[in-house]
Amino acid sequence: MARWRRSFLREVTAALTRLGLSSCPVCDGGELQVLARPRVLHVGGRGARGWLQPAAADETIEYLVAVRCYLCGHQLLFDAEQYRRGDEPMTIAADAKDEEAGADEGGGPGG
Ligand SMILES: [Zn+2]
Repeated sequence: MARWRRSFLREVTAALTRLGLSSCPVCDGGELQVLARPRVLHVGGRGARGWLQPAAADETIEYLVAVRCYLCGHQLLFDAEQYRRGDEPMTIAADAKDEEAGADEGGGPGG
């Protein structure tokens, strides 16, 4: 399972803040956090396949950045392509070393 590069997450967070996202649109809570793991959205295709199987010809996969409200659980999803810069990869493998070591999203295995 992949996770976002920290530098990419920082850029997305800064961009969303510039756009005015500061509180949850549902409960107005200010406890928003950008989640480390991408949300994967399948568009088209046969509907059911394993994680490692290749996409069908008519299937596209979109990667979404999730911002979660810790008060009510509402998640806002943003198309990652919108925030991609050049050819820089947006994600890295979950067990890969990022450019910064340190605190992770926590939560342990699973998901
Ligand atoms: Zn909320």
